Amino acid sequence: MGVVAGKYGKEYYLKMVHEHRFPQELWRELGARSLFGFLVDKELGGYGGGLPEFVEATRMLSYSAATLAYVFVAQNLVSRMVAKNGDSEQLQSLLPKLMVGDVRVAMGLAEDAAGSDALGVSTSAERVSEGYRLTGRKDYVTEAAHVDAIIIVAKTRGDVRAKSLSAFLVPSSHPGLSFTDTHKMGLDFLTLYSVGIDATVDSKALLGVEHEAWGYLSETFALDRVALAAMLNGVSARLLEEACGYARMRVVFGRPIGANQGVQFPLARAHTELLASQALVDSVAKQQSTASQSFTADSAAAFYHSAHSAYEAADVALQVKGAKGYIEGFEEACFRDIRYYRIGPLSEELSLATIARRGLHLPS
Ligand SMILES: Cc1cc2nc3c(=O)[nH]c(=O)nc-3n(C[C@H](O)[C@H](O)[C@H](O)COP(=O)(O)OP(=O)(O)OC[C@H]3O[C@@H](n4cnc5c(N)ncnc54)[C@H](O)[C@@H]3O)c2cc1C
Repeated sequence: MGVVAGKYGKEYYLKMVHEHRFPQELWRELGARSLFGFLVDKELGGYGGGLPEFVEATRMLSYSAATLAYVFVAQNLVSRMVAKNGDSEQLQSLLPKLMVGDVRVAMGLAEDAAGSDALGVSTSAERVSEGYRLTGRKDYVTEAAHVDAIIIVAKTRGDVRAKSLSAFLVPSSHPGLSFTDTHKMGLDFLTLYSVGIDATVDSKALLGVEHEAWGYLSETFALDRVALAAMLNGVSARLLEEACGYARMRVVFGRPIGANQGVQFPLARAHTELLASQALVDSVAKQQSTASQSFTADSAAAFYHSAHSAYEAADVALQVKGAKGYIEGFEEACFRDIRYYRIGPLSEELSLATIARRGLHLPS
């Protein structure tokens, strides 16, 4: 990862942001090194890395290329999910392509009326002679129209909540899918789409066991939160380092602004929060069972703390740079990107609710 991180830095991040372009070169470089198989067992051709190493690699990349590290995290979790749940054909034909980035996959779970309440999706999949008939609509699917396939999560039976969802790997070019793009505040290097779904797919599109997708999706999302927390740590570290460098050198009223406690204290506070966040993420990453209630709660805690501390770091870094922070540039772009992570993939409020219910066993 060191070589890739050294090659794709802040300038590259800003270029992607300003050109509103997917980081194709970074993607190819990660793929060429099979780095999208980081969490896949060696027997299946992966790197065989554990969560602590993944966290370290993600931090290294995000320290350099900021939130572009999202693409590394997202694809690795898809590779892992297929490796753990795919059938033999998916393991043989799809997994190798995922690990080298030849196949790119998006996640289609959220719907307008089912974002926080992910189990409330209304997209349905009905068994028909050719396979499954998928009907409904997904909102906020990152990169939907540009990936090779979308994981569409649909209800395959009545309302038994956690035991009613199935996931289907559907090519984005499949007849019956339609795309409407959505403009957003940040993450300018990624697109966002609503996907209309009226399609019949082969039974082979099913990923894992019918009705049981929620089990492996929720485990994947818990891992995702830890990795995204690490990504936010890396971006925060870079923002604070740059802000401190600026505070040492920028002279106002005849002395460096960093000599004022009014500038020192917010930086010191954000630095302290970052240290706490890194320690929390590292300790959660070391847990043995990623499917346990406590891991779910602790991953929510790590994500909550990292998203909040990254927001503080971005805000302070922007403030320290004054007008230079507000005009188009690194702090401004990071600030817009980081703001998203207080909303998704798990909002602050839902993170706290997860900690309360799964960690503290409070009633729901
Ligand atoms: C840039 C971007 C990229 C995304 N990419 C994807 C993707 O690739 N795939 C995908 O499936 N989804 C994606 N999403 C969707 C994202 O996961 C959801 O937006 C997120 O889960 C929040 O859901 P919502 O927007 O429906 O908010 P809502 O569920 O409508 O919630 C609105 C607000 O109310 C709060 N709230 C809700 N219920 C409670 C409660 N019980 N107690 C306290 N507060 C509550 C929430 O925390 C939130 O602040 C993306 C969204 C964005 C903006």
